[in-house]
Amino acid sequence: MNKELRIALAGNPNSGKTTLFNTLTGARQHVGNYPGVTVEKKEGIYQTENARIRVIDLPGTYSLTAYSVEEVVARDFLVNEKPHAVINTTDASNLERNLYLTTQFLEMGVPIIIALNMIDVAKDRGISINSQKLSELLGVPVVPIIARTGQGTKELMEEAARIAETHADMDWHPVTISYGDDLDEVLIELEALIASRNFLTDTYIPRWTAIKYLEDDREVLTKGRKADAEVSELIQTKVKIVADHIFKTIETYPEAMIADHRYGFINSILKQGVLTKKYNIERLYASDRIDMVVTNRFLGPLIMLAVLLGLYKFTFTYSQIPVGWLESFFNWLSNAVDTTLADGQLKSLITSGIIDGVGGVLGFVPLIMFMFFGIAILEDSGYLARVAFMMDRIFRIFGLHGSSVMAYIVSGGIAGGCAVPGVMATRTLRSPRERMATLLTVPFMNCGAKLPVLVLLTGTFFSKNQTRYMFMFTLLAWCVSLLVAKFLRMTVLRGEATPFVMELPPYRFPTFNGLMIHTWERTWQYIRKAGTVILGFSILLWAMMTYPGLPESKNIGFEAQRTTIIAGYSEATSRELTETSKTSLSDPAKELKQKLNTLDRVINEQTLRHSIAGRIGTSLEKVSQFAGFDWRTNIALLGGFAAKEVIISTLGTAYSLGEVDPDAAEPLSKTLAVSPSWNKAVALALIVFIMFYSPCFATVICIVRESSWKWGVFSMVFNTTFAFLFATIVYQLSRITSFFM
Ligand code: GDP
Ligand code: MG
Repeated sequence: MNKELRIALAGNPNSGKTTLFNTLTGARQHVGNYPGVTVEKKEGIYQTENARIRVIDLPGTYSLTAYSVEEVVARDFLVNEKPHAVINTTDASNLERNLYLTTQFLEMGVPIIIALNMIDVAKDRGISINSQKLSELLGVPVVPIIARTGQGTKELMEEAARIAETHADMDWHPVTISYGDDLDEVLIELEALIASRNFLTDTYIPRWTAIKYLEDDREVLTKGRKADAEVSELIQTKVKIVADHIFKTIETYPEAMIADHRYGFINSILKQGVLTKKYNIERLYASDRIDMVVTNRFLGPLIMLAVLLGLYKFTFTYSQIPVGWLESFFNWLSNAVDTTLADGQLKSLITSGIIDGVGGVLGFVPLIMFMFFGIAILEDSGYLARVAFMMDRIFRIFGLHGSSVMAYIVSGGIAGGCAVPGVMATRTLRSPRERMATLLTVPFMNCGAKLPVLVLLTGTFFSKNQTRYMFMFTLLAWCVSLLVAKFLRMTVLRGEATPFVMELPPYRFPTFNGLMIHTWERTWQYIRKAGTVILGFSILLWAMMTYPGLPESKNIGFEAQRTTIIAGYSEATSRELTETSKTSLSDPAKELKQKLNTLDRVINEQTLRHSIAGRIGTSLEKVSQFAGFDWRTNIALLGGFAAKEVIISTLGTAYSLGEVDPDAAEPLSKTLAVSPSWNKAVALALIVFIMFYSPCFATVICIVRESSWKWGVFSMVFNTTFAFLFATIVYQLSRITSFFM
């Protein structure tokens, strides 16, 4: 017989739930140390000899009181979906705290099996646990396992299947824990009331509901009020009487008393020969010894800087190799299309719209993979938690969280980087407001695509102090990011700072498997979620810069010019240009080629100006002149919305130096230096604008995917407005007073 059983995995964060899930189902699944990363429900299949088991990974929780989203998710799943059994993973090296959650399962009557995980760690620490005895005292099966190696998991699943089958009738048998005379008395009273009025009884057993009212569980209170306001009121009155009484007599609250008694219950069990420690005095574990160095007040920050620089170098240096392969591949593809297709709009669409778009999406992939692999090492080893811990004091001032630092560095906080993985790196942040503030400000960092533009402009206009200027711009990026974050946290994202709830997990060697699954999962998410939209936008932008094309009369005029130019040379000379085998050209042929290139560049410039993007750029000039930008710059900035690296090439085309033949053209910097519409003030204003205006659309899409459309639009509008005001101030000030020169 082959029936299907549903078994959920539940337990404290870091108890090895995800590791066990991976071992059992082999499914792709994140393995991390942050509590709450697994907020989504994950399922997999485990096959025993005669049963098919659907395994569900629940979010990690410390308790089942509605303090956090995770707790509500886990609890709702248990009462609404009623799994046949629950495997309660516990960290054997930290049993007392882990059993706190267990007591709540027992009180709810959930059929559980305890997976006594990490017995290897416990053994190292000289802790031995009598699982037989523990099982007897709790009245549930206890199976020692090592989730990482799979040891004991077979027995665990057999036991789980057995429990699940015996509970197939959905009959739950709650355990009763005593909470002292005062509370016990009122609990019995409330239980009777709840049962007689059928209050929430289709979801919870009466005693559980009563306990939740005593614990002041907001979620249950809301539910109760909705179900039957009268009964709810009645219970609350009784709760208030006993709470007042307790406060008068022993100055405490029912919740605290309940927690105390649960720990008492656990301790009484552990003391009955379940837990023995080999060492009497608290031994310094390896982790603590490492922490003495790594989080040391002086050494800590230095080590952190070195590690972060290392990660940064790893990500952006080594990923260059596969990025290079991808680039050559797409160049080859472009060339192949170029030679096979006839000139025209279809070819232009395929090369400039589609191939560039797909290339743009895939171009990020090696970067994202390397970065997530690096972060996975830091995260799975436990170091990331230390970084966050050390940075927290500084970031707190700006309404952010210690974990935010990672996202800024990845986005270009040191020099070059990318906001796409930066936005995705904010996932390690737990508080939604701090996460949003980080996510919205990481695009202010100087990413690898902005750098060449900054280098070009500083090199042209401030060549003497280029290094100093570049350093100042990095500092400026940090200041603006942090101050804007502070501003957002005081306005649209106002709210309490979350206390630093992250615990410091012990250091562990990451498993290769875990790292790979982790990396791949996040990378795939990027490709799947962002890919299609980015491609769509790329095509749209191509169309905006191509259509409607030059009017027929102009085209005829240019063709006539071309004919005139060619007519000025002998037939042999023009034939030379079409012979691809020819390596060196004769002097007249070179001259002809140059003239034709110049003509092509003029055509390109005219086409661009005539296009939709060109018209937008031109009409924007009325406003943008306050910051010193002319219509050509505006088009380049529009293009920069597609990807900041496009700014230079679009400026080039707009100043009729196009991509037609970069060797033959004058360098862009020279043209800008002598152009009447350019000077230091314009350059400075433009740099400021490029640094802070709307994120490129790959980033916007990621922001949307990580939050909502609302925030994606917000970041475009807010950043652009901010950047424009900033640039205008810089331009006007430096023009009038040469203040920044
Ligand atoms: P979760 O938060 O409950 O999902 O916990 P994870 O599965 O992410 O595990 C947290 C850490 O404990 C990871 O680094 C695992 O590699 C590690 N881990 C899990 N099970 C064991 C085990 O049995 N022994 C050891 N030594 N480490 C384990
Ligand atoms: Mg997990």
